[in-house]
Amino acid sequence: MNKKIVVFSIVFVLIAITVFVSLKVVARKDNEATMTYPIFIEAVGKNEVAQVIIKNDEQLKVTMKNQQAFQVPNPLRTDLKEFLLLKGIEVQYKPTTDLTRAFSSLFVVLLIGGILIYMKKGSGESKQLIRDFNKKGVHKDNIIKFENVAGNYEAKELVKDIIDFIKQPNKYKEIGAKMPRGILLYGLPGTGKTLLAKAIAGEANVPFFAMSGSDFVQMYVGVGANRVRELFKNARKSEKAVIFIDEIDALGKTRQGNKGAANDEREQTLNALLTEMSGFHDSDGIVVIGATNRADTLDPALLRPGRFDRQIEVALPDKEAREEIIKLYLKEKPLSDDVDITLLSKQTVMFSGAMLENLINEGAIIAANEGCKIINKKHFEDAFYTVVAGMPKKNKDSIVSDDEKIITAYHEAGHALVAKLLLPEVEVAKVTIIPTTKGVAGYNYNITKDKMYKKKCEIIGGIKVLLGGRVAEELTFGEENVTTGAMNDIKEASKELYQYYSTYGMDEDNRLFYIDMENGIDEKIYEKCRDKMKELYLETKQLLHSNGAILDEITALLVKEETIDGEDIDYILRNKTCYGESFRSIV
Ligand code: ADP
Ligand code: ZN
Repeated sequence: MNKKIVVFSIVFVLIAITVFVSLKVVARKDNEATMTYPIFIEAVGKNEVAQVIIKNDEQLKVTMKNQQAFQVPNPLRTDLKEFLLLKGIEVQYKPTTDLTRAFSSLFVVLLIGGILIYMKKGSGESKQLIRDFNKKGVHKDNIIKFENVAGNYEAKELVKDIIDFIKQPNKYKEIGAKMPRGILLYGLPGTGKTLLAKAIAGEANVPFFAMSGSDFVQMYVGVGANRVRELFKNARKSEKAVIFIDEIDALGKTRQGNKGAANDEREQTLNALLTEMSGFHDSDGIVVIGATNRADTLDPALLRPGRFDRQIEVALPDKEAREEIIKLYLKEKPLSDDVDITLLSKQTVMFSGAMLENLINEGAIIAANEGCKIINKKHFEDAFYTVVAGMPKKNKDSIVSDDEKIITAYHEAGHALVAKLLLPEVEVAKVTIIPTTKGVAGYNYNITKDKMYKKKCEIIGGIKVLLGGRVAEELTFGEENVTTGAMNDIKEASKELYQYYSTYGMDEDNRLFYIDMENGIDEKIYEKCRDKMKELYLETKQLLHSNGAILDEITALLVKEETIDGEDIDYILRNKTCYGESFRSIV
C-alpha cells in the first residue's frame, strides 16, 4: 500500500510540475507584446534597443531604451550576438531562466504535494484506492465516431435513438417517452462493443467514462460499491455522459448458491450500480452501457425494466462487414495490386473486428520487416497464420476447416427450409453460419407479435424445425457423421414435446391432465415422447429428402454469403415445386 502512495505521489507531482511550468511559460509569453523580426532589425538600426536577452531557441527578450519589453522570434543566426554587440546593445544569454523558474515551482509543488499526501495518509486505505483508481479509470478518449465502426449495421441502427436522446433528452421527456437508462451490448470478444460505446459518446458529443466490472469486484468489501458511486458522481458532473462498464458479468453474474465475502461484495456493488441508475431523471442525458461476452450468465436483476432494458447483440462480422473493416484499416496503407480484398474477407470467416485489425497490422509489420515499401498478398498470407496461431484452438479449427462451414450450412439450411415449408406464418429473418454468443451459428424467426396462443400444429411444426438441423446433416453426410451441433435443438425439442403431453393437454389419447414436471419425468409420458419424437424425426427427414435439391441450393448460397435472409430463401423457392404442402395438412 505504501508503494501505491509513493507511485501516486510521484505521478501527481510530475503532472503538477508539467502543468505549472507550462502555465508559467505561457503566462510569461503573454505578458510581453511580440515584435516581428524585421521591425526589431529596424529598431536596432534606429538605435532604439537597449538590451537583448537570448533566452532560448525560440524567443529573444528585447528591452527598448524607453523600457518597453518585447518578445521577438529568434532567427537562430550564429552571428546574432556579434551583430548586436557591434551596435552597442547589451546581450545576455539566459538559457537557464526556465529551469530556474521550474525549480522554484518544483519546490512549491513538492511542498503542496507533500502536504496532500500527508493528509491523505490519514484518510484510510480504501478511499485512497478509489482516488487513484479513478485517475486511471475515467478518461476522455479520442473522439470516435460511427464512421470508425465498420460493419455492425444492426447494432448501429439500434443505438441511433439513444444518441438522439442523449443530445436532447427533453424532446423525449416532453412527449412522455421513457428511454432506456442502460443498454447492454453482448457479443464475442473483439467484436467492437467498446468501440461502439465510444462511438455513441462521440456521436452524441459527450464525455465517455469507462470502467471494467472486474475492477469493481476485488479486494475489500465496500470498495466496489464506492467505486461505482464515485464513477457516477464524476459522470454527473458533466451532466451528459456515456458511462461504459465492460465485463459487466463480473458483478452481475447470476447469484449462485455459494455465499461468501466475494459474493457479498459483488452484491453490494451491483446494488450500488442499480441504485445509481434508478437515480437518473428522465431529462438527464446520461446513458449507461454495459458490455459482456456472455449474456446468458447475467443476473436477471440487471435486465429488468429501467435497468439494462435494451439488449443489443454485437455479432461477428459477416463477409460484407469484414470487407468494410479490412478496407477501413487498409486506408492509407500502401497496397500492392495483387492484394484481393474481397478474397481476403472471404478467407477470414469467424475473425472478429479486432482480429481483422490485427491481421492488417501484422501484414504491415511483416512488409516493413522485409524492407518493402508496399504490402503484398504474401505478407497478408503470413500474417494470417500468425493471427490464427494466436487464437484459441476452438476458433482455429473452425477457421481452417471448410468442412465445418459446409456442415453448419446444411444444418442451418435444414432449420430454415423446414420452417419455410411448415410454418408459413413465421418469417425467417436471418440464417447465418457465423457463430453467435448464443450457440453455434443460428437462425432467427420473427414470430408474429400479436399472437397469444400457439396452435397444436405450430408446436409440432416448431419441433420439426428444431429437428431440421440434425436431419439435414444426416441426409447429407450419413448417420455416422452427424455432429454435436444439434445438442441445443434436441434439448429444446424435447422440452417442448414433453410439455405437449404434460401441460398443454394435447395428448392424442385425450389425456387432458396436467403433470408437474418438477416431480421428475412421468414414465408413460416419457415413452410417448420417445415414440413421437422418432415419428416427427422421420417425417422431417421425408420432408427434407423430398426437397433435397432446394436444401442444396440454400446451403450453397449460405456457404457463399454466410448470412442470408427470408427473401433469399423465397427467391430460391420461387417457381419451384416444393414437396411440403401435403405435410402442412398432416401436422
Ligand atoms: P470488444 O469490446 O467487443 O471486446 P473492442 O471494441 O475492444 O471489442 O474491439 C477491439 C478493437 O478492434 C477496436 O478498438 C477496433 O480497433 C477493432 N474493431 C473491432 N470491431 C471493429 C469494427 N466493427 N470496426 C472497426 N474496428 C473494429
Ligand atoms: Zn440447430
